Parts: sequence; structure tokens; C-alpha cells
Amino acid sequence: MIAAQAIALALVLVVSVALFSRRARFLYRLVRIGKPAARFDDVPARARAEATVVIGQSKLLQRLVPGLMHAAIFWGFLVLFPTIVIAMIGAVDRRSTLPWLGAQGWYAMLVDVFALLVLAGVITAFAIRKVQRPARFKGSHLGEADLILGLIAGIVITLYLWHASQIALRVNDYPASWAPISATISGAIAGLLPRPALPYLERAAVWGHVLIILSFLVYLPYSKHLHIFVAAINVYFGRTRARGRIEPIDFEQPEADVRFGSARVSDMTWKQMLDTMSCTECGRCQEVCPAYNTGKPLSPKLLIMAMRDQLMAEGPKVLAGDYTPPPIVPNAVIDDVVWDCVTCGACVRECPVGIEHIDHVIDLRRNLVMVESRFPEEAGTMLRDVDRSSNPWGKPQADRTQWAEGLGVRVLQAGEPAPDVLFWVGCAPAFDERARKSAVSTAKLLQAAGVDFAILGPREACTGDPARRMGDEYTFQRLADSDFGGAYEVVHHTEFLAGLVREGKLSPAASDRTITYHDSCYLARHNDVRSQPREIVDAVGVAVEMPRNRERTFCCGAGGARMWMEEKRGRPINQERVREAVATGAETLAVACPFCTVMLDDGVREMGAKLQVFDLATLLHEAVERGKSTSG
Ligand code: SF4
Ligand code: SF4
Repeated sequence: MIAAQAIALALVLVVSVALFSRRARFLYRLVRIGKPAARFDDVPARARAEATVVIGQSKLLQRLVPGLMHAAIFWGFLVLFPTIVIAMIGAVDRRSTLPWLGAQGWYAMLVDVFALLVLAGVITAFAIRKVQRPARFKGSHLGEADLILGLIAGIVITLYLWHASQIALRVNDYPASWAPISATISGAIAGLLPRPALPYLERAAVWGHVLIILSFLVYLPYSKHLHIFVAAINVYFGRTRARGRIEPIDFEQPEADVRFGSARVSDMTWKQMLDTMSCTECGRCQEVCPAYNTGKPLSPKLLIMAMRDQLMAEGPKVLAGDYTPPPIVPNAVIDDVVWDCVTCGACVRECPVGIEHIDHVIDLRRNLVMVESRFPEEAGTMLRDVDRSSNPWGKPQADRTQWAEGLGVRVLQAGEPAPDVLFWVGCAPAFDERARKSAVSTAKLLQAAGVDFAILGPREACTGDPARRMGDEYTFQRLADSDFGGAYEVVHHTEFLAGLVREGKLSPAASDRTITYHDSCYLARHNDVRSQPREIVDAVGVAVEMPRNRERTFCCGAGGARMWMEEKRGRPINQERVREAVATGAETLAVACPFCTVMLDDGVREMGAKLQVFDLATLLHEAVERGKSTSG
């Protein structure tokens, strides 16, 4: 009997491991043909991400109920892992177990408790899916998830039944008193079944358990639950610093090696391929996406799923060699999806498995722009203006200092001694009437605080950022190279001004004006500047927070070069944000980015809202003036 069971186990193991390995080998070979990505540095930060995001489930636990549900299943499986080996030994011989661990009371207790947690997690997951039905699951493969949850429930139920029948037959190696749940079930079984049936139940339970586990193993790499194997690896290789960073293209290398983004799935980097394989279809990214939330075709979840589906469909042919897969756009993803993204990073921040959606979007754009010259017409005007006039407004460079006329601001000339602080004004404050106020206020505040500063004036050119976010890396690098030649500490004006207030160099007098502060995505989410702008708000008025604040802010609609494209699809993103600001009842909407100023001011006007939009520098300048008159 033991020999027959050993042979049966060996057979099912060989078949399932062979099927699993076949798929795993295919996925491994696919990732190996991915283009290079530099993700092997910063091991301590990667290990930290692994500990917090994977083991600690930190991103999932941001939402209590679904987070606890997932954590219960995940942690439960970590604890239950050795029971797979224990069950396989038991399937061959009911009187054998794993040496030492299989006989430990404390481990039996852990298994008993964590199996219950897994079961509770599965029931909660079913309740969320079937009763609550959150919108974030729209477009996900729900049937597949149900099957997986069913298999997990099957694993836990058969484990309990096996342990209970072991206890009833007194073949358990661990003390039954340490497994109270299994012991209770055992009592119920003994009452319900005739004793001769118990050995059969014990065999059926342990074999059922082993077979479900092996089916699970085989099915996983063919399903979206592939993330169980891949997500931890993907998190490890995630970006560790400056999360909004876009990888530069090395134009210096031989032309054949330059990667102009992704035209086809075979152009993706290995990290991007891992991204697509990691998606759990949870929809957390979709739920926070400003484009999706305003009725546009883009859903970051569906984007990643579409790229995964194309990668899986074309992968075997690519691996077979001498095959060019069809372009991703428009076959897997339509053009509108690529252009709807504001690169706000909300999706990246929420994603529990470290998927970097922005990199995918930028790579698709890079290919469309630099290889195919295919982009929205209005964006072409911006690119042309940046190229010809060094600013997206297409204004003459000589006009750059108009805003500073009469202010006594030093314009740094070539060869002059460097000031302590170089005030990088940017194109919007230089050329847009509404954004201009913030430059004027900042200059006046720096003067009031006695800061030695200067501007570059006509020698300042566009940073090229809008071109870069649009996918025109070539123009970006050309402009950036002409602008920056050295190593500088870059400080945002709100950080600098908050420091001056802290040091007592500026003495604002707060008013009772209610202010709601709009965190810019690039500042708050990509660059982690969240507290200093709030220090200024507290110093000048009464703060009221919008529901979506700090790193969970909602875009103004200008990011990703959308400032320069018409919003033809869905509802305007800026109005969505203004609506949220109006609902706070605040009198003033404070901003810290010139693009946000323009977008939100437009939104206020379009909606006829009773809100004033001001940059924090302007509010601080007012408060400093107020302070002077009060103390005077
Ligand atoms: S970056 Fe923002 S707009 Fe783009 S897909 Fe992500 S959430 Fe949506
Ligand atoms: S990309 Fe991330 S957040 Fe979005 S559905 Fe996939 S796993 Fe969830």
C-alpha cells in the first residue's frame, strides 16, 4: 500500500512539476529577451521594499478590509508552507511525518489558527467580489479569481479534514490539544461517521489536499495569479529613488542599440515584462487614475493587462525566432490611451506589486513621437515652439525677464560671481500672466529675507520637461544639456520659503482666510515634498484639507504634457479637482506649481466657482506684508 501510494505521488509530482516547469521556462526565456534595465543597484533599499511591501503587505493594508483579507491569505500561506511536505509524506504513509516539525505542538497550533485566517480571508474576498462588487474590478477576469479562491478554500478545508481524521484515528504526531480547531472538527466527524469510514476519509482528505495543491501549482503560472510567483521579484526590482524619474535614452551609443521606447512587446525591458506578469487585476490603479475617473479610455489596469495579453500571445512566436510581432499601438492599446495619461503616478503609488505604469506609457509615446512622428496636433505646436523659441509659449527669449521689470532682480551675466541661490523661474511664470504672480512674490520674499539670489534671464531655456513627458527625449536632452552644466542642489520654492519662515527671516501674520492646498503630483508624489507647503499654509491662514491630499493627491490635468493637449475625451480633470476644492468650503485654493495655477484657475473660471487660486508664494508675500503693517 505504501509503495503504491509512493508511486502514485511520484507520478503526479512528475506530471505537475513538468507542466509547471514548461510554463516557468517559457516565462523565464521571455523575460531574458527583454531589453536591459538597470535595477541591480541599491540592494538595501530593495530589501527594505521587499520587507515592507511584500512581507509587511504595506500597500495592501492601506485599505483595511481588503488589506487584512489579502494579508491573512498571504501570511497564512507562509505559515502553512511546510504542511505541503508534511501532507506529501502523510499521503504516502499515514504514520509518517516531517521529522521534528511535524510533531511540534506549537506548529500544529499555528497551522490551526492560520488555516482559519486563510479561510476567513477567502470568505471576505468572496464577499467583496460578490456582494460589495467594487468598481475597481471592472474589466478584470473575475471567473479566474473565483476559481483560485475556490482552490485556496479547498486546500484549507482538506487540511482541516485531514488533521481532524488523523486525530480521530490517533495517528497524529503532534498533541491533539495543540490543534483545538482540528480537534473540534474531529469530534464532530467521529460523531457523524461510523469508525470504519474514518481511514477512508483520512486518505481522501490528504490526497485531495495534495492534488489540489498540485493543480494550483500547475494552474497558477497560466493564470493572473502568476503574481504569486512574480510579484515579490517585481517589487524587488522596483525603482528605489525619485519615483517619477524617467530613464534617459543613451543617444551616444551605436544607433542600432538605441532603444526608442517600445513599438512591440519585444522592445519592452525585462522589468516591463515582469510588470505585466505581476498584475493581479486588483484595479487599485484604475480607481485612482484621473483619466479613468473622468471618463477617458485610459485605465492603467487595462493598459497593463492588454500589454500582458499581447506579450503572452506573441511571446512563443518571438522566442521561436525570425518573427516581428505587431505594434502595440493600436493593436493592443489605442492611441488615445497613450495620450490620456497625465503621468501623475497615482497608479504607481497604489499598485501593490510594484508595476511602473508611467514607464510603459512614456515608452509607447517615445516610439510614436520619435519613430513615427505620431502625436496629437496641438502637442506638435508645443514641440515646435520649444524647439524654435526655447519655451512652449513660443514667445521671444528677450521677454523672459519682463515679469521682473522694476523689481531690482539681479540677472546673472556670464563670468559674474555666482549668487548663493539661483532662482530658476521656469517658462510658465515667465510667460503666463497668472503664473507670473508667483515669480514676482518669490522674488520679493527672497529680497525681504536678504537672500543673495539671481536669475538667468534670457539665458534660461525651457527644461524640456514637457517634451520629455510627451516622449520626445531627444529634444529634452538637447535643452537640458544646454541648461544645466554642473551639480546643484535643487530645492522647490515652497521648501526654500518654508525654511526662511522657520529661520525667522520672514515673519508672516496669519489671517482667518480658509485655504485648501492642492498638492501637485510631481511635488507631493514623485518628489515627496508635502510638509513644507503645509507649513506655509499654516503660517498664512487656516488650512482645510481636500479628501485627496498629500501623496494621494488628484492631478490638475496638466501633467505628462497634457497642459499642451486639448482634453477632447471625458470630463475635464481640472474641473473635477476644483469641485473637490469647492466642497471643502475654503475661500482660497493654494497651489505650488505654475501649471496647477493655470489649470485650476481655468477650472474655477469655467465652473464659475467662488474660489481664488493663488500660489503659496503670493499668499506668503501677502502675509509678510500684513505682518509688517501689524508690527509697524
Ligand atoms: S500616471 Fe496617472 S493618469 Fe497615467 S495611468 Fe497612472 S493614474 Fe492614470
Ligand atoms: S497594475 Fe497594479 S494596481 Fe493595477 S490592477 Fe494590476 S496589480 Fe492592481
